[in-house]
Amino acid sequence: MARVLFINGGSEGHINPTIRVVQELISRGEEVVYFTIEAFRERIEKTGASVRTFDDHKFIKAFISGGRDYLLERINGLLLTADIVIPSVLDQIKGEHFDYIIHDSMFGCGRLLAQILKLPAINSCTSFAQTKESFDKILEQFSIEVPTEIVKPIYDKFQSLTVMVKEKYDVEIHSPYEVFCNPAPLTIVYTTREFQPYGEAFDQTYKFVGPSISSRCTQENFDLTAIKGKNPIYISLGTVFNQAIDFYQICFEAFGKTDHTIVMSVGNNTQISELGEIPKNFFVKNYVPQTDVLQYTKLFITHGGMNSTHEGLYYGVPLIVIPQSADQPIIAGQVANIGAGITLQMRSLTANQLREAVDHVLSHSSYKKAVANIRESFRKSGGYHQAVDEIFEFKSQYHN
Ligand code: UDP
Repeated sequence: MARVLFINGGSEGHINPTIRVVQELISRGEEVVYFTIEAFRERIEKTGASVRTFDDHKFIKAFISGGRDYLLERINGLLLTADIVIPSVLDQIKGEHFDYIIHDSMFGCGRLLAQILKLPAINSCTSFAQTKESFDKILEQFSIEVPTEIVKPIYDKFQSLTVMVKEKYDVEIHSPYEVFCNPAPLTIVYTTREFQPYGEAFDQTYKFVGPSISSRCTQENFDLTAIKGKNPIYISLGTVFNQAIDFYQICFEAFGKTDHTIVMSVGNNTQISELGEIPKNFFVKNYVPQTDVLQYTKLFITHGGMNSTHEGLYYGVPLIVIPQSADQPIIAGQVANIGAGITLQMRSLTANQLREAVDHVLSHSSYKKAVANIRESFRKSGGYHQAVDEIFEFKSQYHN
């Protein structure tokens, strides 16, 4: 048995794929101490892990204070969370021994903590992986395309934050890539090499284990019997970029007078009462047990979050992807590349266009076929089982 320190400060998309991994680690005898924000306590406690938290308000405030317009600003935001996460974690584990650390690929300053604690580290990558070369190219573009008077202060801030980290925690940061992608000697990526853009560019320290999917169902939050046999269309923009009343109303207009049954998740920040009259064929909720709903779904209209995309494909559902932000345009592009769905743009979206897109995808069997192929590759990839096999293989280098 080993003691595992798990660090994960991200939103739901960063947490969900880790749930089954942690369950599996525990069932194979590991003890897991999982650091996250309070909102995920219950879900993670159910795995059998011991949950500890850091202050979510301060964490989000620090992250946002870095700025949100440019990638390097978000990197500064991540560095600004160091003072929230690191002292709190160090204080709460004082005197305890851990054998290795698993950290999120973006949130929670995992790479820094691994170095401070001198622990063998595993990176849990819930989006597409990125090589340093491709990441540096994005930053290079930023320096070329954005005026110097904007770029310089952001770079200066990055430099001063790295100095602060060195002074306070005695850890060197060599590049923005280290902060954004938290590279480690082993990276678990919850997709397949086939779906990962430029999959062949990653060396053997990247293990593509495929989606790691868990049920979200509790009795109270959705009555699945209401949609059984109805073959619904499911609509969701995920848990972050989901305040989009206009979009939800376009959906009403597109499908309100059709024979389709529609399940629509509008997120916890949208008041359902503000959406106006809800057509009778719609089930509108703030949150639904998505992985369970998808098992009855004929088509998924999604923002193209990594998890939603994987979950839809894993359950054999063709997609219409309407990317909002972050990595979603790239994911949407991959879905279209493999023929598993089509992409629409939010800015110019109309009800007609949306209805036509749905008719098109539902009436062309090629989408279903492409989904069946990728689904097969996902199911063969091993998921959380494979992830834990890789973790055990990795830890055997350090322990006998
Ligand atoms: N999710 C859910 N019910 C909802 C909305 C979302 O269970 O009503 C889950 C979904 O299954 C996925 C995660 O929340 O696992 C969203 O992650 P994703 O990467 O798709 O998007 P994000 O929320 O990070 O933008």
